[in-house]
Amino acid sequence: MKWVTIAQFLYPYEAYIARARLEEAGIPTFLADEHTISTHWIYSQAMGGIRLQVSPEHENSARQLLEDAAPVTALDNVFSQHACPHCGSGECHPAFRLSVLAEMSYLLISWPQPSPISGLECGDCGFFWEESEAAENS
Ligand SMILES: [Zn+2]
Repeated sequence: MKWVTIAQFLYPYEAYIARARLEEAGIPTFLADEHTISTHWIYSQAMGGIRLQVSPEHENSARQLLEDAAPVTALDNVFSQHACPHCGSGECHPAFRLSVLAEMSYLLISWPQPSPISGLECGDCGFFWEESEAAENS
């Protein structure tokens, strides 16, 4: 069967919620890279996230269902309220960054130390800022 990607998710739980919405409506789905990203979540951004896929004949109805549904995460509302401090764009999404030390520890022991820095990334210019800075600006 041929599959078409209709949405991508950084975190597995977001993909599971969207998938449940489609399957509840009788649309068969496939989550590409689900297991790789669930096991090695740090690769999520590099791999383009978990890809929610449907068959071509269900593509339009599936896209419409996801568009009409409430945001998959409560955080979607928070992030969509932020404008990029660099270029002013409203196209911001959750992201994380690793320090050099964390990247090295991940390569050596498969666990990033110190923890990744979570924040927001601008979809237009790529500017990244930390969540705490985002909360202060809201
Ligand atoms: Zn920007």
